[in-house]
Amino acid sequence: MKCFFQAVLLTLALLTFSSPLDAGAGRPPVQKDITPEWFFPAWLGQSPHAPSFQVRDTVNKYGRYAQQVKIITLKDLIKFHGHFCGGLVESAGALRLALDALFPDRVIDRTDLRIISNNSACGGDVASYLTGARSRFGSHHIDNTLKESEFIVQKVSSGETVRVRVRPEAYPHEVRTLMKKIESGQYTPQDLDSFQELQWNYARRLVTRPLSEAFVVEKLPDFTWPPPVCPDLGRRRDNDYKNAPAR
Ligand SMILES: [Zn+2]
Repeated sequence: MKCFFQAVLLTLALLTFSSPLDAGAGRPPVQKDITPEWFFPAWLGQSPHAPSFQVRDTVNKYGRYAQQVKIITLKDLIKFHGHFCGGLVESAGALRLALDALFPDRVIDRTDLRIISNNSACGGDVASYLTGARSRFGSHHIDNTLKESEFIVQKVSSGETVRVRVRPEAYPHEVRTLMKKIESGQYTPQDLDSFQELQWNYARRLVTRPLSEAFVVEKLPDFTWPPPVCPDLGRRRDNDYKNAPAR
């Protein structure tokens, strides 16, 4: 009997932390991984406004569009970026709104995007992962006049362009003050711990209320894409066959 109840509890826990998306037509469901791990606290996965992203790609190099989507969560972004930080959650929240403006059906075509970010380690990684843009192919442009978590995103096929940024009143200025102190070299070990606490508190605030309270999106009609900052090393070719007819 004890084993039975343990099995029920385990099943309930798994249902809580993985959210299969019905893929339809007998296809296997798409999993959304929000299982807590040492680098991914339970509250972050369960927060009501924590962003996740359905993305559309191709099936292979020179492949056609995939019929199914994938789901990228904050946990996936942390695995790519390396750590859970305020900048990662802030950037993901900002890009959730920017990409909603470009893809009203909420399925993000990662073969059809380019982006401009500053050179923040955190925001730049989120920009690249979520959009499929790469600086080496000229689709991820770096502009250090932008603030952290300020992005300009363009749907290449239509030219639609949006800018997203943090509302000034939503940003905790003590984070920037302490960041400047740490980067000046004049910091104590306690400052590093305080910084993490400040950032995580900021992240928690962001994902426990509607993202539109923290970010603002504006359309940029007739936006002119800036000249590349990297030398021309060639363009991406592996997505060129996404609309090829079936045999
Ligand atoms: Zn980071």
